[in-house]
Amino acid sequence: MTEGERPRFVADSMLGSLARWLRMLGYDTAYEKDMDDGALIRLASEENRRILTRDKGLAKESNAIYIEPDDLEAQLKLVGEVGELSFSEEFIRCSTCNGELKSVPKDEIGDRIPEGALANNDRFWICSACGKIYWQGSHWLGIRERFRKLNLA
Ligand SMILES: [Zn+2]
Repeated sequence: MTEGERPRFVADSMLGSLARWLRMLGYDTAYEKDMDDGALIRLASEENRRILTRDKGLAKESNAIYIEPDDLEAQLKLVGEVGELSFSEEFIRCSTCNGELKSVPKDEIGDRIPEGALANNDRFWICSACGKIYWQGSHWLGIRERFRKLNLA
């Protein structure tokens, strides 16, 4: 599956956590805290994104998925039922800004991350948009475990 075939999303202002988790699963998910309904609908149609919303009015849009549950795992399950979510390391995105992550060699980032992380990991990624660095530490493994529980990994 190429990146272009994976569904893309835009999340409304109530769904910040869901947006971050979708990015970590490898889905291009637009989210801005103060995007109004009009801007959200426009972005969805211009960029062919499905709207994720807790707003019943907005959920009437043809490409919207109404997210009723409060609980993050229930939300992920719900999106999974509609969009057939699956984790892909290849497509993983920056949880902070939705930028694309690129693999980066250890020696290029050595001065920018904690020594412990550098010593205990071999693979690192950098966000092409905001420069945040990621590695396969315990946090990452916890996330994978959670995806596995939800049958998404
Ligand atoms: Zn970023």
